[in-house]
Amino acid sequence: MSNATQLIHSIPVDPLTGSISVPIYQTSTYVQEAPGVNKGYDYARSNNPTRETLENIIAKLEGGVKASAFASGLAAIDAVVKLLQSGDEILAVDDIYGGAFRQFTHIYAKFGIKVNYVDTTGVANVLDAITPQTRLIWLETPTNPTLKISDIAAIAKIAKQHNVLLCVDNTFASPALQQPIKLGADIVVHSATKYLGGHSDLIAGLVISATQELGEQIKFIQNACGAILSPHDSWLVIRGIETLHLRVQQHCRNAQIVAEFLETHPAIDKVYYPGLKTHLNHDIAAKQQSGFGGIISFTLKTDTEAAAKDVVTNTQYFKLAESLGGVKSLLCHPATMTHKSIPAEKRHAAGVQDSLIRLSIGLEDAADLVNDIDQALAKINITAGDLKIAAFQ
Ligand SMILES: *Cc1c(COP(=O)(O)O)cnc(C)c1O
Repeated sequence: MSNATQLIHSIPVDPLTGSISVPIYQTSTYVQEAPGVNKGYDYARSNNPTRETLENIIAKLEGGVKASAFASGLAAIDAVVKLLQSGDEILAVDDIYGGAFRQFTHIYAKFGIKVNYVDTTGVANVLDAITPQTRLIWLETPTNPTLKISDIAAIAKIAKQHNVLLCVDNTFASPALQQPIKLGADIVVHSATKYLGGHSDLIAGLVISATQELGEQIKFIQNACGAILSPHDSWLVIRGIETLHLRVQQHCRNAQIVAEFLETHPAIDKVYYPGLKTHLNHDIAAKQQSGFGGIISFTLKTDTEAAAKDVVTNTQYFKLAESLGGVKSLLCHPATMTHKSIPAEKRHAAGVQDSLIRLSIGLEDAADLVNDIDQALAKINITAGDLKIAAFQ
């Protein structure tokens, strides 16, 4: 059975009514026959059939054993960190998602959890940075926004040798392109807000565990701390997952065309897309992913905020917004949006230059997307021109 068929048929028909769509159980509690005698459900924070269906689907899709659904990607990350204790250390990818960095730094540091940030594209760097206190390795691959790739299988081997858990944030690739548990990871997290939901209409997070034991620990944290996904949003994620493979194929196809166009454009300096042979980690991406995803970043030869602004305010189809993974193409300017709080020096060192623009390639026609970027690139210098005139006056 192909992946797409398996995926579509892992979504069950309702055994009670035959409903082909998963029912939304909008309830807080369940009537019991006698104290403790129930149909497997007693209170909706602990369990809900709609949420449970989503959890079973994503566990299968990621090749894991057990999954838990949370109210956001950050709530999912939070649940994984709660496996640790004060004094434990996390070894994390250096250009980690900004929200995870904020959570680690401003919430968990005060509970005595330390984080060492490492360039995990070099496997040797990971080995060097492990200490006796390291309990968790945290990868994102590809990363945001420069799409660095880390070798999941090689790092999983190191993690096992040192008895350290490996968690991979698989938001950018999605299980349609990459299944970290099959490469040796212990835990996968998702912001289901992005490709899994797929329609820019919800906030959700998922944790998938490779073992029953880890899955039960996460489930305990989910119930004990309470950041559960609602029945309606669970249903929306299920509906998104139904077309995941189809959407991701088109995201990849469009992104490859746009990236190759950008690479030849005279106004552009660097293009970051793992599907390009010129990408630093193209070979690892080709080895561990079955496609290169829908996110592209690029910098301009005129490396200024003003030039980037000319581009991001002059597109028609690419809408200026944070987030990614939806049907409509989006673009953003990390230096003044997602990465604004990072000091310029640190930001530049991470490759987030002043002119860097990130694209989330949607499901429009690729030719329209290319033309849209092309005409916006022709408008560079509008602001720069204004500035020059202003300076002259
Ligand atoms: C968006 C995102 C998150 C956070 O998810 P929310 O659903 O916004 O809480 C975590 N990791 C990555 C890679 C993301 O892109």
